[in-house]
Amino acid sequence: MIKLRYKFYIVLFVIFLMISASFIAIIFFAADYNRNNVKDTYYNMLYDTSKQNIVNYIENICDSVSYNLKDLKSNEIEEKEQYILDFIKGIAKDSQDFEVYLQKVDSYSESNIAVYNMYSSEYVEIDETFTYYDKNTEAKAQFYPSYETLAELSENNKALKSEIFYDSEYQISEKRTFYSRLIPELRLIVTSCFYDNDLKNQSEKYVSGLGIYNENTMPAFLVVMIFLIMGLFIFLCYIESLYYKKLETKFLSEKIKTDEKYEELKRLAETDALTKCYNRKYLNEKMTNVFRNFLQGHLPSSAILFDIDNFKRVNDTYGHSAGDAVLVQVSNAVRECIRREDILARWGGEEFVIFFKYTNIKSALIIAEKIRVTIENLTVITTEHKIKVTASIGISTFKKSDSEATDCIERADDAMYISKKTGKNKVTLYNK
Ligand code: GH3
Ligand code: MG
Ligand code: MG
Repeated sequence: MIKLRYKFYIVLFVIFLMISASFIAIIFFAADYNRNNVKDTYYNMLYDTSKQNIVNYIENICDSVSYNLKDLKSNEIEEKEQYILDFIKGIAKDSQDFEVYLQKVDSYSESNIAVYNMYSSEYVEIDETFTYYDKNTEAKAQFYPSYETLAELSENNKALKSEIFYDSEYQISEKRTFYSRLIPELRLIVTSCFYDNDLKNQSEKYVSGLGIYNENTMPAFLVVMIFLIMGLFIFLCYIESLYYKKLETKFLSEKIKTDEKYEELKRLAETDALTKCYNRKYLNEKMTNVFRNFLQGHLPSSAILFDIDNFKRVNDTYGHSAGDAVLVQVSNAVRECIRREDILARWGGEEFVIFFKYTNIKSALIIAEKIRVTIENLTVITTEHKIKVTASIGISTFKKSDSEATDCIERADDAMYISKKTGKNKVTLYNK
């Protein structure tokens, strides 16, 4: 049996486990959070660096072009113009990570704003007519609707601007960042365009290469926790069931003991201690029930009474304990001759009654004779003696005129008395 104290300890242990698990969960969660943070930091760093690299690259080109043109006169610039354009175009064509556009400035405003149109194209061209022709769809401004840019050029002729593009259903399709630099001497804007998605992909690739992933260990941890709790619950249920099983077993064994005690007491109350035959009280009760049924029309029942002959002499000759042995062995032998439902009772001293339920007097006579012979042939063996005895028997049956069941026994006694008087070791039928 699991004591309450142990149950308390188990519950305490479960609480301890839960608290530990919660701490572990927090540690896991913090580790996840930290790892993701590191990843994001790396990613942002790479993204910014890549952007800056491209900007620097354009800066360098434009700076070197400006430097070359610095001391030239305007007619000399015109001479060199084509050469420089070709140079930039060459660079633009070679660049793989980003696109480079060249635009002739249409006009300057007072606030140093250059108004120009810019078009996406896989070819790097100087677009002086400001028309866009998509060679795939052969339609104007269909690929990127509303693609007009107002680039604000700061004092040092630079502009960094991001644009978000929408598809035909107004969903964000991509984000591009443009870096523009004006070369005033050539009235030329060099614009680099880089795709955020490309940069992101590159950065992500690189970050994954470092072995940093966006991991979330919480779900796996929760599953383990749930299984743990379920396991503990089942374990507690099992302990509980063991407890009740033990309780049940104890209860049943107690019940069996009580039943056995009851049976023993009942047996003692109903039987004679020496011969284990039923006592008078028991016989009376049983006979009374059957007699009641007889009065209501059931079959008649019969009884025989037998008395051991010259029993006083047995006692006197062999001793009282030998007499007891005779009583026990005679009653055992007689019990062998009758049915289970017949009642063998000690009427008193060395007198016994056998009650045959629903048995007529003729059948009782046959059994009585059988009993007489059995006693006659029996040799009672004690440690010191071999004793032979006989018995005188009287028989009677229920009569409607009887007031009590035992009236029948009184008649059997009378008949037995006749057996005694007429020589003993006899069966006499009461026939008055
Ligand atoms: P009869 O043939 O006429 O019946 O003669 P009897 O000697 O059997 O009859 P009697 O009534 O004179 O004697 C019965 C004796 O049985 C008397 C008594 O001491 C003895 N007796 C009664 N109960 C017991 C018993 O439980 N044990 C022993 N050993 N003797 C008993
Ligand atoms: Mg007697
Ligand atoms: Mg006798």
